[in-house]
Formats: sequence, C-alpha cells, structure tokens
Amino acid sequence: MKALVTGGAGFIGSHLVDHLLGLGREVVVLDDFSTGSMANLARSAGAVTVIRGSILDEAAVAAATDGCDTVFHLAAAVGVRTIVDRPLESLHKNLRGTETVLDAATRRGARLLLASSSEVYGKNTKDRLGEEDDRVLGSPLKSRWSYAAAKGLDELMAYCYWQRYGLRAVIVRPFNIVGPRQTGHYGMVVPTFVEQALTGRPLTVHGDGTQRRCFCAVDDIVPALMALATDERAHGRVFNLGSGEEVTIRELAERVVRVTRSRSPIVHIPYAEAYGPGFEDMARRAPDTTRARELIGFRPRTSLYEVIAAVAADRRARLPAGFAGGSG
Ligand code: UDP
Repeated sequence: MKALVTGGAGFIGSHLVDHLLGLGREVVVLDDFSTGSMANLARSAGAVTVIRGSILDEAAVAAATDGCDTVFHLAAAVGVRTIVDRPLESLHKNLRGTETVLDAATRRGARLLLASSSEVYGKNTKDRLGEEDDRVLGSPLKSRWSYAAAKGLDELMAYCYWQRYGLRAVIVRPFNIVGPRQTGHYGMVVPTFVEQALTGRPLTVHGDGTQRRCFCAVDDIVPALMALATDERAHGRVFNLGSGEEVTIRELAERVVRVTRSRSPIVHIPYAEAYGPGFEDMARRAPDTTRARELIGFRPRTSLYEVIAAVAADRRARLPAGFAGGSG
C-alpha cells in the first residue's frame, strides 16, 4: 500500500503519517505548509516523501497521487481564525482543492478518505448528532460559515463521485480533535488555554463559557481513519469520530488550570472582541459515534484530563527556557 496524505504536515495529518509508517506503508505527503510544518514530520523524516505544493495545483496533485492506492484528504484551510480572517481563500482551497483531489483519486482508481468536519452541523444542538441529522447553517452572507458551507459541499461532491464514478470514498467528521503538535494560532481552544496557563497569562473564555464541546485525542482518531479508509463497507458513507465526554468551555479552562497547576486567572471576553462583530458560535456539539463503533469498533479511550496533560507536555517542550516548568 502506498498512501498519499494531503495536509500531512498538519496536526492530524502528521499523526496519521506516523501511524501509517508504523504499519509499514509507503507514504507521500502533499502540503503547502500554510499551517503545517516540517517540525510536525520530524519523527518520520527520511521515511516519508514530502511534496511541497498546493491541492489547488493539478500537476502537484497528479504527481503526489502517482502510484497511490489510498488518498487521505486532510488538507484544508482550517481554524476559526483563518476562516474569519480569510474567508474567500478558505472557500477556494476547501472547494477547488477538494475537487482536484477527488479528480486525481478517481483517475488513479485510488480509494479516498475525506476529512470533513463536525462544523457541517452548524447550529444544530441535538444531544448527540448523528450522521443523518440535518445541518442547521447560518446565513450565507456571514463569512464565518464559509468553512461549514465548503465542507458540506465537499461531502456532497465526494458522495457524488462515489455514485457517478465509483470512487471508493469515505467521509469522516472529526469532532474537536486535540493533541500534541496542535497550535493555538488558528483559534483552537485547548492549545490556546494550555499555552496561556503555562505562561501565566489569563485564559480567555469567549462569551459566558456555557458553549459545550467534546474533545477527542488525536491518537484515538488516527487508527480509525486507516480502518475506515480500507473497509469496503465504509465506502459511500459518512462517519462521526469524536469523544462522548462533553464539557463546557468554562469547565475546560478550569481543568486546564488544575492540570497545569497554573496561577493564571480565567477571564471572559466577548465574541465580538475575539472574532469581530456578529460572530455566531455553536452552542453545543456532541457526536453520536454508534456507526463507527459498530463498523470498526471505534471507542475513544483517552480522557480529557489525559488529553490536556499530553498537550501541556508538548507545549512545555516547545516553550523557551524559563517558561518550561510552567507557572505553577
Ligand atoms: N474559545 C475560547 N477561547 C479561546 C479560543 C476558543 O473560549 O481562546 C472557544 C470558542 O469560541 C468555541 C470553543 O472554544 O466556543 C471551541 O473553539 P475551537 O476554535 O477550538 O473549536 P470549534 O469547536 O469552534 O471549531
């Protein structure tokens, strides 16, 4: 098996690369290094072929897919910060880029896993979101929803390629995946809080902090990506992947302070201050993962405490000396 991982220098992608190499697979990475980094691939240096290029570049995508039987399509413009700051670029990359990758995989006869997102559920706040549940999207004139809109269309496009061309496509919706190598630069809350706690700065909870999420360890997700991509029964279907442990963002901040033994205060800042006027958040987002459990035995094992501790250990290792011991 030779696999292409688009976005392989990113957070989830680089963990997937490590996993695939561990299974003895040949791996090619296509990444434009907009949010990914070679540092993420340090463990796999020398063992992986890295192509620096964009998923918008047909020639680069064709070269990267050459000889591959499996494509993991993880490259995307990610993070609320990126989407709010550059909505048009996000739309281009997430729509045209995905189309280019789907075309290349179809031409090669490769199977394809599309990394979609729990963002597609939008404002749906059901207790446990199932794959067939409706998307409840905000206004198309609010650029904040550009990522959710693009990922929804990406899913539909992959599904239609499966129907029309027989592309063996599997769609997954990861819910708030967290772990070492993730950065807070693009808005992700866990690395942001951990870094604030370790450097003695206030933890910045947006709004009243009652919004709820389920955070899932990257190590729990990566084997599931491999299992789903290679399982024929998964083709033409969508799978939620995430943890069942739900937490409010205020509770998350309190836990980060406890785990890191930080003296940082927790402050609340208005959404408008964080993301600009008119920003709409998702109040609640919790996955029903019955489908993945029944098909491949998916069962996340890492607790939120363990996830926070792993992120803290990773951030400590990256902070300049003096901060390395934390602030507690
Ligand atoms: N958040 C926060 N403080 C921060 C960064 C994020 O309170 O410094 C909140 C954000 O508004 C959202 C939640 O944490 O309600 C999760 O944000 P993230 O961007 O990690 O993921 P999302 O679930 O929004 O995709």
